[in-house]
Amino acid sequence: MELTADEAWSRVLERARAELPEQAYRTWLLPTKALAISESALIVAAPSEFAAEWIEDKYGEFLTAVARSLLGGSVNVAFEVRPPDEPVARSLPLLPAGDLEELDAPRAESSGPRAAAAACGLRERYTLENFVVGANSQLAVAACHAVADAPGRTYNPLFIHGDVGLGKTHLMHAIGNAVLQRSPTRRVAYVPTERFTNELVEAIRGRRMSEFRHRYRRLDVLLVDDVHFLAAKEATQEEFFHTFNALYEAQKQIVLTSDRPPKEIAKLQDRLVSRFEWGLVVDIRPPDFETRLAILEAKAAENELAVPRDVLVLIAERCRSSVRELEGALMKLHISSGLLRREIDLALAETALHGSGGAPRAVTPAKIEALVAKAFGVSPQELRSRARRRPVVTARQAAMYLERELLQLPYSQIGGRFGGRDHSTVIHSLRSLEQRVVSDPDLRQRVETIRRQLQ
Ligand code: ADP
Ligand code: MG
Repeated sequence: MELTADEAWSRVLERARAELPEQAYRTWLLPTKALAISESALIVAAPSEFAAEWIEDKYGEFLTAVARSLLGGSVNVAFEVRPPDEPVARSLPLLPAGDLEELDAPRAESSGPRAAAAACGLRERYTLENFVVGANSQLAVAACHAVADAPGRTYNPLFIHGDVGLGKTHLMHAIGNAVLQRSPTRRVAYVPTERFTNELVEAIRGRRMSEFRHRYRRLDVLLVDDVHFLAAKEATQEEFFHTFNALYEAQKQIVLTSDRPPKEIAKLQDRLVSRFEWGLVVDIRPPDFETRLAILEAKAAENELAVPRDVLVLIAERCRSSVRELEGALMKLHISSGLLRREIDLALAETALHGSGGAPRAVTPAKIEALVAKAFGVSPQELRSRARRRPVVTARQAAMYLERELLQLPYSQIGGRFGGRDHSTVIHSLRSLEQRVVSDPDLRQRVETIRRQLQ
């Protein structure tokens, strides 16, 4: 079956629409356009850097999963920035892997490396060049350069750890992009740990283990993001151990990231902990004031935003914990300025950023589940299980409700976190909770308290 890029993307969007809050769908996905398709990549245009960033961050994994289930095997959805008035290529028939092309001639020469990057799961916008280096990240960045220059020959594995939003994922993609730029035929793959796990489960179920192993063991550079998600996953750890050994012995490069150093990852086999420490372990810390300011200047320039310096200083003073937060503040300002049709100045910044800065750290599903479990007196494991005890069911519904409300997660992703429940079960649970809070003030109170603690 031959699908054009437009047709393929419409199908993905149709499914996404059924899964996402309408508001999120309209704001972020509706303004996108398909650009090109091959067996390994579906390239989509977003109207701005911010939009691309946001969609990739919140929905990238989800969209790739949907695309894979609808279009088959190993498609990666990748976003590219293109202003809405720029003409978009007519769509193309499905091309063989790696043979991606587009019809608008002026950019045709860029389709080679771009297609190669997308097929490896790499975001091309994340490069070493556009990563702003500060004292907080100097060592990590130097290590990334060394690894990109001579994959498999210097630090192997390279293990980067640090809090959320400090640039670990960016650096990982940047290594992959740098390697490909120098030698486009190198086999590079970026894979979030959760995807590695899901692919493994599917390979076992579909009796396609040798294909799975082949796919990972033939690589030159394997980039595995967020390995703290290996915690307590025995089968995945077992398989990962063998993948690691095969690549390591063949002197292939492995790069890992985590929110904590190897030793502190709970329920991780000792043999993996020790392997993760074989190469170089480096951390990234929160940026200092000067670095925050430099990052803001770079982001404003990238997005072609005219932001006065005193406004950048204000943001840099307020938002201290992560780069993600800095980006968020700048985006909020950009959106407010558009909505209110006002120039960005200090007064607008004060209004728009009211309440942000010094803000609590990002809300995550894990954080919601931990708080809900505590408030309802059940364990997080029970919460995520399929147990049907009444208090557990109520707590689970509350957690699902908060994840939908606060994080706008797709139904399937919520279901996946709670014992692999499907789309309609999640919808049912959400409805049930919404009805119950109307007639049960105590329950309403409890959910509201948790919401306040999170925000
Ligand atoms: P992590 O993986 O550590 O949670 P990310 O790599 O996703 O963090 O970074 C969050 C966002 O901040 C990304 O959009 C990334 O491009 C940006 N970012 C982080 N650090 C820097 C930096 N030093 N220079 C430029 N952008 C950065
Ligand atoms: Mg990350």
